[in-house]
Amino acid sequence: MTGLVIHQAHLPYAGQLDPREADDIDLVVIHCTELPDLATAREFSLRIHYPESGTGHCGHYYIDRDGRVEQWIPPDRVAHHVRGFNQRSLGIELINRGRYPHWLHSNRQAMTENYAAEQITSLLHLLTILCRANKGLRWIAGHEQLDREKVPATDNPHLQVCRKRDPGPLFPWEKVLRTIPLKAYR
Ligand SMILES: [Zn+2]
Repeated sequence: MTGLVIHQAHLPYAGQLDPREADDIDLVVIHCTELPDLATAREFSLRIHYPESGTGHCGHYYIDRDGRVEQWIPPDRVAHHVRGFNQRSLGIELINRGRYPHWLHSNRQAMTENYAAEQITSLLHLLTILCRANKGLRWIAGHEQLDREKVPATDNPHLQVCRKRDPGPLFPWEKVLRTIPLKAYR
């Protein structure tokens, strides 16, 4: 693999997120944005959900379909990307439409956009770098495995759908687990 460029594109509130030690990190969480493109993901991440700290929802790294990698939050800050696991984890977001724009519609739960080969190549490279930099890293999980909450569908409140499905059934888990020295979190 040739050198991976990680473009620094920190969110304005990155410095307001809680600091942590590198030793606190033992888990990588894989997400997809369920949005059409990187610019839209940026817009969503800039929305403030925690007025006390002036911060919102975002991952640490974003990987576009062409393999471009951006760091939006430094790893030594706790980002809000997965309920209950933020303190110990790094969040990696892959640009992918997922269920966009009908996330919770009962008939739109399929995730049909394949992950681009360039995107997965960059992900594997980034994971290799993160494993080297964070000696405590042991586990990897998909967001869907860590948040299994079901909520009423937007089209029919009597039906339940998964609040989170990312990265979904098209994510190449086998390849990632074969290549990277991390174990599937359970
Ligand atoms: Zn997610």
